[in-house]
Formats: sequence, structure tokens, C-alpha cells
Amino acid sequence: MKIKDRVTLITGSGQGLGKAMALAFAREGGKMAINDIAFNEAKALQTVEEIRQLGVEAEFFVADVSQELEVNAMVAKVLERFGRIDILINNAGINRDGLLHKAESKNWDAVVSVNLTGPFNATKAVLPGMRQQGYGRIVNISSLTARMGIFGTGYYATTKAGLIGLTKVTAAENVTKGITCNALAPGYIKTDMMLKYPEDQLKALIVKIPVGRLAEPEEIADAALFFAADSSAYMTGAVLDINGGFLI
Ligand code: NAD
Repeated sequence: MKIKDRVTLITGSGQGLGKAMALAFAREGGKMAINDIAFNEAKALQTVEEIRQLGVEAEFFVADVSQELEVNAMVAKVLERFGRIDILINNAGINRDGLLHKAESKNWDAVVSVNLTGPFNATKAVLPGMRQQGYGRIVNISSLTARMGIFGTGYYATTKAGLIGLTKVTAAENVTKGITCNALAPGYIKTDMMLKYPEDQLKALIVKIPVGRLAEPEEIADAALFFAADSSAYMTGAVLDINGGFLI
């Protein structure tokens, strides 16, 4: 089957990378389950509208990925609406900067609950259906920060490295059931997560990126499509670096 015959659930797809991936999958004709947290509902509904304008089915499913019961309810509703979930992209994420010797538990708890507990909740909720249908593609959005010791990323990098662990175990445990699980490790992407930084800080960062710019979200979306394809059946447990040459 092609993406057009597949149902894809993308967490945190009201904006940024999640939205870019949702539109990329929708351009291939795939049915889209758009998730986001309640406070971002307006943007998520806008994503749904843009997908429907492409002539593709899309629906918004509100859930805070850090909340197990909300994620279970969301997955049940997606299954009710579309009958199956073929592709899960664990994309929802947040960032808090801070040096470890000044770290605050409330920041740690917030980042771990969204970036790590979120993908754990969503993965375990979709796996029974994927195993039963004998098909699944799970793509986890990790980060360059999981690969390097970058100053001030203690909360965030730890979760993104943990997500690589989740990726590999999910891959190992489900390889005989037609399910693959892979991770993307993007460098710096032009989304709100980066654009919140002052211009001088961004300029100083861009100087360090050999390609000389931030990534467009669409460039990462193309890699997600690659992992999600039927033809990527032999690739599982992999981590794909997309960082403009920052880490070679
Ligand atoms: P973004 O802030 O624009 O988007 C994040 C999305 O996640 C938003 O729609 C937000 O509402 C949603 N979200 C946040 N908490 C949620 C929750 N509890 N439940 C459901 N949805 C929630 O940022 P982005 O850059 O598009 O980030 C997407 C993913 O890419 C994240 O996992 C991020 O860590 C990762 N990433 C981003 C960069 C970058 O440079 N922007 C680099 C590497 C990896």
C-alpha cells in the first residue's frame, strides 16, 4: 500500500514540524489524525482545514500526550473514526533551557512528561492495534542534542536520548509483526521552538551550522515520509541525523 491508503497520527501537529509533516503526508493522500494540546486547538483546526482543502480526510483529536488516560482515549477515538492507525509520529515536544547546576525539578518534570512519557504513552496505546493488523510505522522525533553535550540542554537532551532508547526497544520487540520504529535526530529547525530566541543568539548559532541556515520543517518532513513508507520495511531501530553538517 501507499501512504494514501494509510492512517497517520501525528502528535503536536497543530504547528511547526508536526504541521509540516501532516501536510507532507496529506499531499501523498494519507488520512490524517491531527493531535495537539487543548490550548493549541485553534492552530490544530487550521491544520485540519488546510489538509481538507487538499481533498484529504483529517480530524482533530485533542490530548495532552503526557496524560496516559487522555492518550488512550485519543487512540480509541482515532480507531473509531478511521478504523486503524498505520503510522504514529511522536512529535509533540517542549524545551526548557538551563544549566544542570542550577536546574529546577519543575522544568525537568515538565520536559520529561511531554518528551519522554508522551511517546511512551502513545507508543503503548497504538502497538496492540498495529500488532493485530501486522503493520506499523513509528517515527520518533529525537534531536541532535541527544548526540552531543550541548550547553544548557540538560533537560531536553536527556529526554531526546531516552527517546532513542524507546525507539530501539520498540523496534526490537515488534520486528516480527511488520512494525518498524525509527528516530529522526534533527538539528535546528525554523519553528517557534527556535524562533523564540533573540536574533543575535540565532545569528551566533547559524554561524556554527556548516550549511549556514536553520532547517526548513519540510526538509525534516521528507525524512519522516521515508521512514513511514511501506518500502522502508527493512529499516528499523535506526536514527537518522539531519543537521546541516553540525555533527559529522
Ligand atoms: P513547536 O513548539 O513549534 O511545536 C510543538 C508542538 O507540540 C506544538 O503544536 C505544541 O502545542 C505541541 N505540544 C506541546 N506539548 C504538548 C502536549 N503535552 N501534548 C500534545 N501536544 C503538545 O516545536 P517544533 O520545532 O515543531 O517541535 C516538534 C518536535 O521536533 C519536538 O519534539 C521537538 O523537540 C523536535 N525538534 C525540534 C527542533 C527545532 O530546532 N525546532 C530540533 C530537533 C527536534
